[in-house]
Amino acid sequence: MLEQQLRVPGPTPLPNRVLRASAQQMINHRGPEFAALLDSVVSGLKWALHTEHDVLLYPASGTGGLEAAVVNVLSAGERALFCTMGSFGNRWAAIAEAYGVDVVRLAVEPGEAIDPEDVDSILAEHPDINTVFVTHNETSTGVTNDLPALAAVAKGRGKLLCVDAVSSASCIPLRVDALGLDVVVTGSQKGWMAPPGLTMISVSPAAYERAAQSKLPRFYFDFAKEKKYQDRNQTFTTPPVSVMYAIDEGLRILREEGIENVWARHARVARMTRAAVRAMGLRLLAVEGHRSDTVTAVLSPAETPDALKDLLKHARTRYGLVLAGGQDDLSGKIFRVGHLGFVDDSDVYSVVCSLEQAMRDMGLQSRVGLAAAAALAAAREEETAAAEPAGVR
Ligand SMILES: *Cc1c(COP(=O)(O)O)cnc(C)c1O
Repeated sequence: MLEQQLRVPGPTPLPNRVLRASAQQMINHRGPEFAALLDSVVSGLKWALHTEHDVLLYPASGTGGLEAAVVNVLSAGERALFCTMGSFGNRWAAIAEAYGVDVVRLAVEPGEAIDPEDVDSILAEHPDINTVFVTHNETSTGVTNDLPALAAVAKGRGKLLCVDAVSSASCIPLRVDALGLDVVVTGSQKGWMAPPGLTMISVSPAAYERAAQSKLPRFYFDFAKEKKYQDRNQTFTTPPVSVMYAIDEGLRILREEGIENVWARHARVARMTRAAVRAMGLRLLAVEGHRSDTVTAVLSPAETPDALKDLLKHARTRYGLVLAGGQDDLSGKIFRVGHLGFVDDSDVYSVVCSLEQAMRDMGLQSRVGLAAAAALAAAREEETAAAEPAGVR
């Protein structure tokens, strides 16, 4: 039993096997043991992401990965399209603006997804745009884009496509090569059952070619430099060895389960979570058809932002349940339940029953027992869910 039920959308709780793996002695990162570790981690990541592309590793959080994508593929003054659905999409655009990129923003209201037709018309209108940036799963709003449709538009027009898959990779169906994705960024602390500290980036041959031409200043995050080292099973700088032990074990667990089963498990726990919160009379922020399998954003049941804060504090102090609030403009208006990585049905029951009880304690709910019943019913809807398009609910 965990001391806390940590259900924010990253970092996630870790399996004991991962905790033990990360507690191993240090090794020389220029020696043979590290070469074997790096090889194992990278081949596991390629397997999970369905890619033959290089997967470059940097000691950084996911935001570092987003910055790496920008500085390697763009030049100052160049026009680029950033599709943003919330905080993380905005962050990526802001990074590009900080480097003097001419950012064209396609922004939608919180809870909405990017319409591939809008991407198509912007690309038609601005033929000078050569690069598209899109968030696969917007963690601030609990929205998953229809990535295959967006990729079809961008790649159909011959654009380089960069994807923020920090909170989707390994959890939501993502086949990097089949979709033709050029740069895909993820982070160790989200779906990989590992601690924070490592960003992992898949890089296509076209992205390397672009990097050789593009002019933004870069040093630490230079793709070509990192590739040179990783081709020899080393990294340019000192790697976060403990995090790599952890992710290696996390990947071993994912392989044992099978990636399609991992995706199905995330779809199931998300469906259970949504059904439970709706049974409690709560409303979801994300539009139907684009609700995330890794994070559920729920409109606040409280009258004021302070009352929402009190509810989350009560859930934490009385029931050990740690949920996330809203980010930026959504602060005080929503709360978020993370259900990614190390999570299964029993965790959902624990989370939704604790939440329901906390709401009752705070006078926001008169009955209990609705959440568990709804979650149980949703858990049994396996066959209906399998008929839905992959990655989009
Ligand atoms: C968590 C996250 C990031 C990166 O956040 P860091 O705190 O820098 O790791 C980027 N994009 C999305 C969609 C995320 O969920």
